Amino acid sequence: MPLKIDFHVHTYYSYDSFIAPSELVEYAKKCGLDGVAVTDHDRIDGALKIAKKYSGKNGLLIIPGVEITSRNGHILALNIQKPIPPCLSVQETLELIHAQNGIAVAAHPNAIYHGQLEKRMLSRFDAIEVINASTFPFKFAAYINRKIAISFNLAQLAGTDAHYAPEIGYAYTLVNAEPNVGDIMEAIRKRETEAYGKPIPVKIRLEKVILDLKRKISKG
Ligand SMILES: [Zn+2]
Ligand SMILES: [Zn+2]
Repeated sequence: MPLKIDFHVHTYYSYDSFIAPSELVEYAKKCGLDGVAVTDHDRIDGALKIAKKYSGKNGLLIIPGVEITSRNGHILALNIQKPIPPCLSVQETLELIHAQNGIAVAAHPNAIYHGQLEKRMLSRFDAIEVINASTFPFKFAAYINRKIAISFNLAQLAGTDAHYAPEIGYAYTLVNAEPNVGDIMEAIRKRETEAYGKPIPVKIRLEKVILDLKRKISKG
């Protein structure tokens, strides 16, 4: 049985997410996920804490990761332990991820079609997020991303990019691996992954927009 994994979730360690670690675990289990990569914006400390506290308990694996703000778009780093600074070039960011033996993923790479993420860098990634449940227009992005994955021989991953717990579950990756982080990373290296998912429904997106507004108002 392949594992079902969401490779892109933000917790409240990201300035813009509402998801508490306990909620992340609760919703992931409810959706039948075997694992979740915690990928907060430009910080690894929360993901490491959550992995230490929850990974392997109740049958859920937590993969520590980061969504790095490079100078040319967002890059997911999976299975890393040390922080990587933001605002570096794509090349420098990829070198730092690989120096930690991490996996580098082009996140919701519509930046590519705007010409931001240079095409010549793509072959240096390990994977591309072909499905991101928060992306709009969803189908078009998934179509283009699949084409890129095939032409650059990248593993195809899916993630929700959830910032609000009910968004979890709308995208997942099937991974042919044993249930441990090392084996999952190996399966990505072997390109043994399949991306699935659908866009997050409008109702849930609206609920999140309202929460965002409330937070902005309360902060004045
Ligand atoms: Zn992003
Ligand atoms: Zn994100």
